[in-house]
Amino acid sequence: MNIDHLSFSSITSYLNCSKAWKYKYLEKLETKTSSQLLFGSAWHKTVEAIVAGAVDGESYKKDFWKQSLLSEIEQSQKKNQVVEWGGETEESLINAGLRLLNSEEVKKGLLSIYPGNDEKGPKIERKIELRVPGVPIPVIGYIDIITEDGVCGDFKTSGKSWSETQAKDSLQPLFYMAGLKQMGMPAPDLFRHYVFVKTKEPKFQVIETSYQPFEVMFLFRLINNVWQAIEKEAFFENPGGWLCSERFCDFWKECRGKYQ
Ligand code: SF4
Repeated sequence: MNIDHLSFSSITSYLNCSKAWKYKYLEKLETKTSSQLLFGSAWHKTVEAIVAGAVDGESYKKDFWKQSLLSEIEQSQKKNQVVEWGGETEESLINAGLRLLNSEEVKKGLLSIYPGNDEKGPKIERKIELRVPGVPIPVIGYIDIITEDGVCGDFKTSGKSWSETQAKDSLQPLFYMAGLKQMGMPAPDLFRHYVFVKTKEPKFQVIETSYQPFEVMFLFRLINNVWQAIEKEAFFENPGGWLCSERFCDFWKECRGKYQ
């Protein structure tokens, strides 16, 4: 099988629909993107640049945001990617980002995030490699930030506020923390989700969740089971899942849509 690593998102993708996983990761069919993904990716870069101290001053931050968004759009055009705009436009996305940057709550929030530093610079967007017993290839990911106090964190954009349960249910933090520990780096069993809420009055949330070290055993079992299923080429449709619609599935035309 022609894959040399897994990632947390590829594992999640397999669980959503293994057939879609096959189209994406084995057959490497083109995927769509959406205005939310373009926004999220550009906002990520902006936040990372601000907290790393690479852009300072209100107008520079705004320019950086606009350039990041335009560059995401340009890259998707170069790849001839279909963009699901969902009623948004380039202008409305730029304005949504500016609203976040103008919000006093968001400004204060951004000033409260201090990345740790080492010989490579600010601990932002660091590669994590996790080895799972019984899985011959690594699981790779990039952690958004490790703050001064050694706590890992992830930047999220959302159309509505997150609940504590939503943060606690996410398995992604366990993946990061297990990866860091395996790599010999100190990682407290605590994680922070930094949520930028794109409502008319933007909000900024910091949600801390703690984990018990043994919870990682569930993660290992899950990844192991997914790997074994991939090895056995268990790829089947999941018509009852949230993904299975013309709107959400990138492979609708090749799959369910072919028979309609
Ligand atoms: S159309 Fe449905 S079953 Fe087919 S790949 Fe997409 S989500 Fe899976």
